[in-house]
Amino acid sequence: TEVAELLRSRIRDVPDYPERGVMFKDITPLLADPTAFTALTESLAELCTAYRATKIVGLEARGFILAAPVAVRSGVGFVPVRKAGKLPGATLGQAYELEYGRAEIEVHAEDLSRDDRVMVIDDVLATGGTAEASVQLIRRAGAQVAGVAVLMELSFLGGRQRLEPGLDGAPVDAI
Ligand code: 5GP
Repeated sequence: TEVAELLRSRIRDVPDYPERGVMFKDITPLLADPTAFTALTESLAELCTAYRATKIVGLEARGFILAAPVAVRSGVGFVPVRKAGKLPGATLGQAYELEYGRAEIEVHAEDLSRDDRVMVIDDVLATGGTAEASVQLIRRAGAQVAGVAVLMELSFLGGRQRLEPGLDGAPVDAI
């Protein structure tokens, strides 16, 4: 589509970042272009409305930048999922495996309720580890996952295959 082409044209390939052999997809040119950023926000908000989301979870840190305007546009609340140790209140935590080592993410338990249908938003779906851990957190908080939506999916890394079995049919969308 036209929107997809515009967005694609605003993503910069940075070779050997953050380490040798990795081609990093840099979204800062897209964020700096108000037409592209607005089009992305609208596309993500349409999904949130279509899936009847009642909360938007954004994943630290680039997910925050996308999820906050989508929450405002959709008229639902924003809930941050942060790296361990950053949230001041009572949290639920979920550890997951990285290529080298482990990471842990947290959410404020009181931000999600049993009635919530939660849309997970991030910039990039790579191996799917971060999104999978977020889905587990949301489930453990008692809420339902309405879907996972990202700007871009690096399909050769298999994130969708990893995520889908745990989603009970909830959709994974890449704009
Ligand atoms: P995963 O857990 O799916 O392997 O990695 C996804 C997470 O790493 C996302 O939070 C995303 O922000 C970040 N990430 C991994 N690769 C890239 C990339 O090439 N570009 C950007 N912008 N983020 C990436």
